[in-house]
Amino acid sequence: MDQIKVDALRAQPVPTYGHLIDVQFLPASDGGTMDVLSPLDGQVLTQVAKGTVADMKTAIASARAAFEDGRWAGQAPAARKKVLHKWADLIEANALELAVLGVRDNGTDISMAINAEPGSTAGTIRYYAEALDKLYGEIATTPSDILGMIHKEPVGVVGAIIPWNFPLMIGAWKLGPALAMGNSVVLKPAETASLSLIRLAELAHAAGLPPGVVNVVTGEGAVVGEAMGLSMDVDVLVFTGSGGTGRRLMEYSARSNMKRVYLELGGKSPNIVFADAPDLDMAAKVAAAGIFRNAGQVCVAGSRLLVEASIHDDFVAAVVKATEAMRVGDPLSLDTHIGAINSENQLSQNLKFVETAQAEGGAIVTGGSRILQETRGYFMAPTILTGVTPDATLSQKEVFGPVLGVTPFESDDDAIRIANSTVYGLAGAAWTSNLSRAHKMVRAVRTGVMHINTYGGADGTVPLGGVGQSGNGTDKSLHAIEKYVNLKTAWIKL
Ligand code: NAD
Repeated sequence: MDQIKVDALRAQPVPTYGHLIDVQFLPASDGGTMDVLSPLDGQVLTQVAKGTVADMKTAIASARAAFEDGRWAGQAPAARKKVLHKWADLIEANALELAVLGVRDNGTDISMAINAEPGSTAGTIRYYAEALDKLYGEIATTPSDILGMIHKEPVGVVGAIIPWNFPLMIGAWKLGPALAMGNSVVLKPAETASLSLIRLAELAHAAGLPPGVVNVVTGEGAVVGEAMGLSMDVDVLVFTGSGGTGRRLMEYSARSNMKRVYLELGGKSPNIVFADAPDLDMAAKVAAAGIFRNAGQVCVAGSRLLVEASIHDDFVAAVVKATEAMRVGDPLSLDTHIGAINSENQLSQNLKFVETAQAEGGAIVTGGSRILQETRGYFMAPTILTGVTPDATLSQKEVFGPVLGVTPFESDDDAIRIANSTVYGLAGAAWTSNLSRAHKMVRAVRTGVMHINTYGGADGTVPLGGVGQSGNGTDKSLHAIEKYVNLKTAWIKL
């Protein structure tokens, strides 16, 4: 990646986009459009269609028709695999263009985006392309006059509602297994990050995915997202985003066809540092990166730092030092470590959390404010507060921004109690040289992912899913396939 190429792509105008339905770009049925604001400078980047309920119904009907006539599900697994690999090739060939477009839309720093977005997306699509002809059905252990078989069948039409923080990566976590198993998918990108997903779907068609198998409808969650949730013709709904929306999706399901709903809802993940951590300097650097990369807009962000009391002050000083060494600024500069906050609304929400944390006794040790106002972009200094009690708002509610609360603890049991004292359970970490303590933490901290002596970076071979109010079901790994299939039993008298 070089800066000259990034700057050339940054200078290109972004076309206006309609919905992508049946391989065609269509305007909203009432002609409505939405401005796409760039978090880099607060200026209008382009417009996308502002979808209506009728638009969502059209996209779902197209996906249903594509599923029913077998144009994708009916293809031989080897043929589907070929298309998915071709798609991954095209994603790789267009990686920089996809990454820059996504950054202009959502504000992630380009160094992270190039790997986390097109890079990981191509990898995910390939992973499921490779898996699809290796997933056998089962033969049951039946009496000798019976043949009992278990088939894995595609569910039909999958509705996928995607957030703005990593639209391609999270989109691919849903698209990869859903398409590999022969389903059709309707995507609803976030209002503030639609562009790269639209391009991703265009590339899928260029790779030979038949019309209607992936449709994209842009617009407001409360309109097109709700229409998807209430549809009688969507079989499975998959979602990453906030708990509030997750609750609504479950309601929509109950009020319509009782479609299966899988939710990935973020968390308040504890990063627990013991005095016997193998390398406290490294732990401090990783703790800073674990919360501040992508400006804290990461579902697994280590947003609660629990530090053994005996090392608290020195360790906090090391995390502050690592944090202040991270450069915040132009997301399209290769030197930037932390890019923009996705929207002005999210930025003011982050700042309110800081105010509340102070009012509840927390003390800012670095950051705390909006910065780089001269750019008119949405930037915030990475912020650390100490003296944050386990019951403080900052310990209990997901900020989804660059704000870290630090809480001291005295013992293993104290650390476990504090770690488990939220409604969430997505990720966590413990830093220790004591093998037994490490395993104890893996078992005792209620999360979907527990890291030991590292934070983040779990690849596509392992599942990502939450417990408690962090959600249900998993993305990534072969386990994600389960969301996109129905098990069908054949019971045959011989
Ligand atoms: P959100 O839940 O409102 O939006 C996520 C997606 O849901 C978007 O595509 C949105 O259009 C859609 N949506 C919104 N309302 C809907 C409705 N009524 N019916 C159907 N779809 C709807 O989240 P947000 O406003 O973008 O961010 C708010 C908070 O969500 C963040 O502060 C953060 O806590 C959390 N979040 C978590 C993740 C994650 O990775 N777990 C990602 C993004 C946001």
